[in-house]
Amino acid sequence: MSTFQDLGLNDDLLHAITDLGFETPSDVQTKAIPILLEKDTDLVALAQTGTGKTAAFGFPMLQKINIDSRTTQGLILSPTRELCLQITNEMKQYGKYCKGLNVVAIYGGASITDQAREVKRGAQIIVATPGRMKDMISRRLVDISKIEFSVLDEADEMLNMGFKEDITDILSHTPEEKNTWLFSATMPREVSNIAKKFMNSPIEITVGNKNESTNQVSHEYYLVNARDRYQALKRLSDANPDIFSVIFCRTKRDTQKVAENLIEDGYSAGALHGDLSQNQRDLVMKSFRNKQIQMLVATDVAARGIDVDNITHVINYQLPDEPETYTHRSGRTGRAGKTGISMVIVSKSEVRKIKSIERIINQKFEHKEIPDGMEICEVQLMSLANKIHNTEVNHEIDKYLTSINELFEDTSKDELIKKFFSVEFTRFFNYYQKTKNLNVSDSRDYDRGGERSEGGRGYRGSSNDSRYFINVGRKDGYDWMKLKDFLKEVLDLGRDDVFKVDVKESFSFFNTEKTLQEKVLAFFTDFKHDGRFVNVEISEDKGRGTSRNKRRRDGGGDRRRDSKPRGDRRSGSRSDGNRSDRRSSSSNESRSRRSESGSNSSRPRRSRR
Ligand code: ADP
Ligand code: MG
Repeated sequence: MSTFQDLGLNDDLLHAITDLGFETPSDVQTKAIPILLEKDTDLVALAQTGTGKTAAFGFPMLQKINIDSRTTQGLILSPTRELCLQITNEMKQYGKYCKGLNVVAIYGGASITDQAREVKRGAQIIVATPGRMKDMISRRLVDISKIEFSVLDEADEMLNMGFKEDITDILSHTPEEKNTWLFSATMPREVSNIAKKFMNSPIEITVGNKNESTNQVSHEYYLVNARDRYQALKRLSDANPDIFSVIFCRTKRDTQKVAENLIEDGYSAGALHGDLSQNQRDLVMKSFRNKQIQMLVATDVAARGIDVDNITHVINYQLPDEPETYTHRSGRTGRAGKTGISMVIVSKSEVRKIKSIERIINQKFEHKEIPDGMEICEVQLMSLANKIHNTEVNHEIDKYLTSINELFEDTSKDELIKKFFSVEFTRFFNYYQKTKNLNVSDSRDYDRGGERSEGGRGYRGSSNDSRYFINVGRKDGYDWMKLKDFLKEVLDLGRDDVFKVDVKESFSFFNTEKTLQEKVLAFFTDFKHDGRFVNVEISEDKGRGTSRNKRRRDGGGDRRRDSKPRGDRRSGSRSDGNRSDRRSSSSNESRSRRSESGSNSSRPRRSRR
C-alpha cells in the first residue's frame, strides 16, 4: 500500500495531512496524485462520492501553483455554494503550511463586492459556482486569463443542474494551454461530451465501476399504497431510533409539507429547498450538521453537495424523475468507509422503476416490509434498554438516592424495571397497537433478501416462521448481508434458511422456519463471538403484520392519522444529552393542547407532571 509520501507530495502538504489525520491515500488519490504531479495532462477521474476527490486534485494543485505569485492560477468549478465552501475550506486546510496561500470562494447569495475584494488581494486559487463566476467575469471582477489548472468537480451534477453554457462561457476566458481535470461520480453522455470538447486527450482513471453506486450502501424498497406514504416514512423512522437521514421529495411543496408534518408529529426534522432564503438554508444545514435535526427533508437540487458524514439512511419519499438522480441521492450515505441504507417508498405503479435503477447502480434492491406496530415497540424498547445499559451513571443523582429508594422500598427489581420501561413503552404501544399494516404485496416478488425467491415461498408473516432477536447490530460491523452470512455459517444453514434479516444499530432481527427454532436457540445458549456473548431470543413480533390476527387487530380501514407517539423520542435517540431541553415547554404545551383539542385524537398524550 502506498503512503502519501510515496505519491510525491512535499513536506508542507504532508505536514497538513498528518494534522488532518489522513493515514493512507484513497484509491482515487493513489491513482490521480502521481499523474497530476508528474505530468502536464488533462485528466478525467471517475469515483464515487466520498472517495476523497477533493484531495485528489487539491494536493497536486497546491503543489504545482506558484505561491509567491498573486496571479490566479487555479480555478475549481463546483455545482453548489455548499460544495464550493466545503472545497474552499478543505483546500485551506490542505494548504495551511503553504505560506502566502490565498484560496477564495465565489458563489451566489453573498456580497459580490466582498468576494471581488478578496480576489483582488491576490487569490492563487478560486473555487466557484458557475453562475456567480460568470457574473464576475462579465463584470471584470476576476481575471482568469492566466489559469494553469482548471477543475470541473462533480461534473455530472453541474451538467444536471444546467450549467453547461455557463461552464462553456467561463472556460472560453481561460487560456488554451491550461490543464483541465474533470471529476465526476458518473459518466453520462453529457460529461463525455464536455470532456471531448474541452480536454486534450485526457488520461482517464476510474475507481470502482463506472456509473456504479458504492457498495457501502444497501438498497431497500417498501411497497405501500400511495396514500400511506407518509405513515410509512414515520414507521421507518420509528423502527430506526438512531436514524440520521436525508429524505428526498420531488417538489419543493412536498418537501415543505413532509417536513412540517414531521415536525408537527414531534420528530426533529427540517426542510431544505430552493424557496427558502439563503439564511434559512444555512440555519437548517447547521442544525443538521450538529445533529439537532435527525431528518432533513430535501429536494434534489437543494441537497446537491450535502457532505455530511455519518448519514445512516437516505429515504426516497418519492423516486426521482430521472433514475440517474437516484445515485446522487443514495451517495449521501455510506461515505467515508461507513455503511448506509438507501430506502425507497414506492407504490405499485412505480415499482417497475426499481428495475431500471438496479440496472444503473448495478446492484439489487431488497424488498422489505414496513415494520408493524409491535415490531416498532420492540425496537424502541430494546433501543432504550441498550441505551440505559450503556449510560454512565451521573453521580449528581446520589444525593437524591435515599428518597428515591424510600419510594421504591417495596418494589422488586423486576417490577421496577417494568415500571421504568413502561414509561416509554406504553407511549409507543398505545399508539401503535391500533395501527394497520401498510404493506402491499408485490406481485413480482422477485426479490427476497437480495436473492430470488424460488418457488415464491411467501415468507411474509407466515406462521411457519420464527422471528428472533439477536444482540449484535450495525455498531458491531454487521449489515444484513454480513449478518445473514454469519448466521448461515455458524448454524450451518442453507442459503434460504435465514431471511428477513433486519439490522439495527445495536441489535437485529431475523427469521427462520419454525422447524429450525430449536436448533437456533440451542446453538446460541452459550455462544461467544469476538469475546462477547451473542444472545438470541424469540422476538415477540412474529411476522410483519400480514398474519390474519394482526390484520384483525389493525382494524381494517382505520384511516386515522398515524401520528408519532408523543413524548420526546429524541430523548431516546441522541447522545448529546441536552436535547430534551431543546423544545421549549411552551411548545410542548401548545402541542398538548392541540392534540387534546380533538382534531387529532389518535395521538398519544405525553405524560406531564
Ligand atoms: P468526494 O469529493 O469524493 O465526495 P471528499 O473529497 O469530499 O469526497 O472526501 C470525503 C471525506 O473524506 C472528507 O471528509 C475528507 O476530508 C475525507 N478524506 C479524504 N481523503 C482521505 C484520506 N486519505 N483519509 C481519510 N479521510 C479522507
Ligand atoms: Mg467532491
